[in-house]
Amino acid sequence: MSEDGLGEEWAPAPGYEIEIGTEPLERPARNSVGGWPYFDDGQEWPRCFCGERMALFFQLDLPDDIEFFGGEHLSVFHCAHHHDAADPVTADDRLVPRFWEAPQPPFPGSFWRVLLQRDPGVPEAEPEPAVRALPLSLRPFVDTPEGPFGAHFKVGGTASWAQYPEYYRCACGVEMAFVCQIPEGWEFGVRPGVPVQPYSVRDDAYALFLGNEVYLLACPARCDPAAVFPVNQH
Ligand SMILES: [Zn+2]
Ligand SMILES: [Zn+2]
Repeated sequence: MSEDGLGEEWAPAPGYEIEIGTEPLERPARNSVGGWPYFDDGQEWPRCFCGERMALFFQLDLPDDIEFFGGEHLSVFHCAHHHDAADPVTADDRLVPRFWEAPQPPFPGSFWRVLLQRDPGVPEAEPEPAVRALPLSLRPFVDTPEGPFGAHFKVGGTASWAQYPEYYRCACGVEMAFVCQIPEGWEFGVRPGVPVQPYSVRDDAYALFLGNEVYLLACPARCDPAAVFPVNQH
C-alpha cells in the first residue's frame, strides 16, 4: 500500500458516463435505451428460458480507448416476465461453460443475456416493444479513487464496488474484466400497456436484476459474444 492508503495498483482508466436523453427515438441508433437492436450475422434476438424474447434495456458502441473491449457493441437484455438477481454458476474456480445459459435459481434457465459483438451492421426492423426508446450518449471522464464518478452509470473506468470487489474467471480460463456499471435502483421507462414487471416498484418502468447495483464483467479473450457476467450487489 502507498502512504495515502490507496492500492499501488490503482491507475486511472478511460471511462465514459452514460447520459440518457429525453426526446423519444423514432429511428434506429447504435447508442440507445430500448430501440432497434443491432446483431452480428447469425446472432439472434436472445430468448429467455420461458421462450419470450428478452427486452433490450440498452445498447452502445464502446469507444476505442476502453480497455480490452473498445470498438465492440455492448447490449443488455433481461426478460420482462422473469426478474431476479443474477447468480454466478461456477465449478473448478471458474464460471461454467456457457454460464450465460446456466439455470438461475429458482428458474430452470437464464432470464438475462449481455452481448459484446464485433461488427453488428444492420438494425432489426422492429424496435424493442416494451422499453421506451431514448437516445444514449457518452461523456468522457477520468475515474479517481474519491469519485465523484463512483457509482454512476458508466462504461470503462473503474468499478465502484458497493461491497467487496468480486472477481470471476471465465469458463475459458481468462480473468473477467470490468466494462460497465449500472447504479442501484436505475429505472428504464416502458410504454403504456406492456406487461408489468414482477417485483417492480412502478408500473411504468422496468429494472435490471431487482434494481441491484450491476457490474458487467466480460471476457477479455472474447471467447463468445455472450461471455459477460452481471455481478449484483447492494
Ligand atoms: Zn422469461
Ligand atoms: Zn472467456
